[in-house]
Amino acid sequence: MTSPTFAPRIELSDHARGEAERVGILANPGFGNHFTDHMFLAEWTPAEDWHDPRVVPYGPLQLDPATAVLHYAQEIFEGLKAYSHADGSVWLFRPEANGERLQRSAHRLALPELPLDWFLGSIRSLVETDRAWVPSGEEKSLYLRPFMFASEVFLGVRPSQHVTYSVIASPAGAYFTGGIKPVSIWLSEEFSRAGVGGTGAAKCGGNYAASLLPQQEAAAHGCAQVAFLDAVEHRWIEELGGMNLYFVHADGSIVTPELNGSILEGVTRDSILQLARDLGHEVVERKVSIDEWREGVADGTITEVFACGTAAVITPVGTLKWNGGEVTSGDGELGKVTGAIRQALVDIQYGRARDEHGWMTRLI
Ligand SMILES: *Cc1c(COP(=O)(O)O)cnc(C)c1O
Repeated sequence: MTSPTFAPRIELSDHARGEAERVGILANPGFGNHFTDHMFLAEWTPAEDWHDPRVVPYGPLQLDPATAVLHYAQEIFEGLKAYSHADGSVWLFRPEANGERLQRSAHRLALPELPLDWFLGSIRSLVETDRAWVPSGEEKSLYLRPFMFASEVFLGVRPSQHVTYSVIASPAGAYFTGGIKPVSIWLSEEFSRAGVGGTGAAKCGGNYAASLLPQQEAAAHGCAQVAFLDAVEHRWIEELGGMNLYFVHADGSIVTPELNGSILEGVTRDSILQLARDLGHEVVERKVSIDEWREGVADGTITEVFACGTAAVITPVGTLKWNGGEVTSGDGELGKVTGAIRQALVDIQYGRARDEHGWMTRLI
C-alpha cells in the first residue's frame, strides 16, 4: 500500500503572542512550560488511512469522556529537538531514528504506523510555521513532542478505530544552568518499570505512569531519578525512568546495558555507541549487574557513570542510593570522559563540529 500524500492545511493563529512576550519566554524557557502558537494534527481510520494533516492554532483538544485513550492508555510519543545554528539555520538530529521508533512503538501498542514522510513533514510544517519560537543561544532548543493516541469514542477493549497524531513544540533552555553537576539516583528494588514481553521497548505513556511512584520514592530520598532493574531477577540494570545508562571503566572501556526487549532504545544511547568509538573508547553492550555497579564504583573499576536522553543530553551520575546504603562515583564534578562525549555530541547538534555520520537534517 502506498502512503497517502502529505499536504498539510495551514491555519494561522489570530491570537499568536506578540514579539515582546515571545522574547521574554525564550530568554528563560525552562523545560515543558511554554508552547508555541501552533500545533500539528492528523487523523487515521481503517477506511481513510492517515488523512487531514493540518497545522492549527495551539489549543485544548475537546475529548468525549469515553475516548479510548483515557481508559486503556493506547498512546505513544516521541521527543526530539530543533537546534538553531550560528548562521540562523534550523536542524534536527537523526529525526528518521525517532520516526522509525514511533513506528515500532505503534506496532507494539496496536496503533497504525505513521509513514516516515508524514513524521518528518509534520515536524517541518510546524517548525516552519513557528520558526520564531526556535531559541538561539547556549544549549537552547525547540523541544518537539510528537504523540499518537486512541481517539475513538468506545469503551470496548480492542484497538481504536480512530487514531489522532499530533506534534506540539516547547522552547527549552539549557538543562543545566550554572555548570553540569552529577545527580543522585535511587535504586528501585521493589518496583520494575517494564518486563520482558511488556511495553518497555515502546515509548508509551503507560511506562511513565508505572515509573511515577518509584520516582516519588526517589525524591523522598533526595534523588533526582530512579534506576530500574530487570523484572525477573531484580539483578540486571535496565535504565532510568526516561534515560539510558553508561559506565566508564578505569581501563577506558565504556559499557551500557544490552537491549533486552524491555529497555527503551534511546537515540542518544545509540549515538554515544558511535561517538565513544570515534573518541577511541572500546564500547561494549552487555548485561550489567547491580553488584557490578556498587562494587565497581567502590573498588575504582568504574570511574564514571552517566545517563543519556534527548532532553538532558548527558547527565553525570554521582551517588547511587538504596535502602541501607550508597556509593558515589567521581568527585562531585563532571567526569572527563563523560564531559568529552557530551561535548562531542552537542557540538554536532549545534553545528560546531563536522557531521561525519550524516546525522543532521536541515529544516530551515
Ligand atoms: C525517550 C526515552 C529514553 C531516551 O531516548 P532518546 O531517544 O535518547 O531521547 C530512554 N529511556 C526511556 C524510557 C525513554 O522513554
